[in-house]
Amino acid sequence: MQLIFQTNKHLSELCTLGIGGQADLYLEIRSIEMMQRAIHHCHQQSIPYFILGKGSNCLFDDDGFHGAVLHNKIDFFEDLHNGQFHVGAGYSFSYLGTKTARMGFEGLEFASGIPASVGGAVFMNAGANGGETFDYLVSVDYVDELGQLHLLQKSEITHSYRFTSFHEKKGAIVGATFLLPLSSEAREKQITLLQYRQKTQPYKDKSAGCIFQNPPGHSAGLLIDKCGLKGASYGGAKVSEIHGNFLINAEKASSKDFLSLIQQVQLTIEAKTGIKLKSEVRYVPSGRISS
Ligand SMILES: Cc1cc2nc3c(=O)[nH]c(=O)nc-3n(C[C@H](O)[C@H](O)[C@H](O)COP(=O)(O)OP(=O)(O)OC[C@H]3O[C@@H](n4cnc5c(N)ncnc54)[C@H](O)[C@@H]3O)c2cc1C
Repeated sequence: MQLIFQTNKHLSELCTLGIGGQADLYLEIRSIEMMQRAIHHCHQQSIPYFILGKGSNCLFDDDGFHGAVLHNKIDFFEDLHNGQFHVGAGYSFSYLGTKTARMGFEGLEFASGIPASVGGAVFMNAGANGGETFDYLVSVDYVDELGQLHLLQKSEITHSYRFTSFHEKKGAIVGATFLLPLSSEAREKQITLLQYRQKTQPYKDKSAGCIFQNPPGHSAGLLIDKCGLKGASYGGAKVSEIHGNFLINAEKASSKDFLSLIQQVQLTIEAKTGIKLKSEVRYVPSGRISS
């Protein structure tokens, strides 16, 4: 199987923020073996690469990405019975939450409505409403920077609020196994959480979800609201009027607009409350050396 990279793919089309220039090289990855080969190739040729899931937590640079974007579309779903599910990292995390709740299993109801891939959710330890991805995770299939496949048990992966040790590694998550308990209330809970999400979040706007982590004991959205920042803008980037922790691409925002607004919000909140907000979005620098 030959790896045929596309050139000059627009990154703005591949992320929920709709921001970003072109990637020099782009490849859709459809199988674990293909991911192994692509990573091995990039390693051998010294090509910088970026693993993309559903692009719901990425801020690409206006200058694009000087390297290869490996777009994870490995989307198998295996029911291993008794509540155990093995899924490809490119599988929709939202659909996994809905599907398992419909089957009568609890634990991933919160995922319904999060526009992530399973790999991205594992990488970020995505969570909501008191639940997080690692709660019912058993193991992760992982391709290291040389292209070797590993099965990592949950105990081998450091994780905390919106952090996992994958942040410090190269390579790609290609699959994950979850073990979910049976519950007669799972489907109802999943529907309630989804409806709440749709009521309280700016679903129709281009965003990357919550931009800031909640500082211990505080809600970042409430702090932003209380400091009067809802509706604040920089260029085409704006703090949502619906939810203070959502920064949206209101009108052809550039990556610079977005980064400036993030900084502006951080500075204002720190000046008014003494609390430092930490950004959750993954900014992807272009890697181009400016002359
Ligand atoms: C409307 C909206 C609502 C949201 N709600 C929530 C929420 O409730 N809770 C929450 O936690 N987040 C939420 N988010 C943010 C986002 O969905 C999560 O951070 C999610 O985990 C990102 O997954 P992704 O597949 O889109 O990752 P991407 O945005 O594609 O990538 C994010 C990071 O993960 C890495 N990555 C992705 N896939 C892999 C892989 N297979 N292997 C290795 N690295 C990988 C990328 O390199 C990048 O660094 C929301 C976003 C939006 C737009």
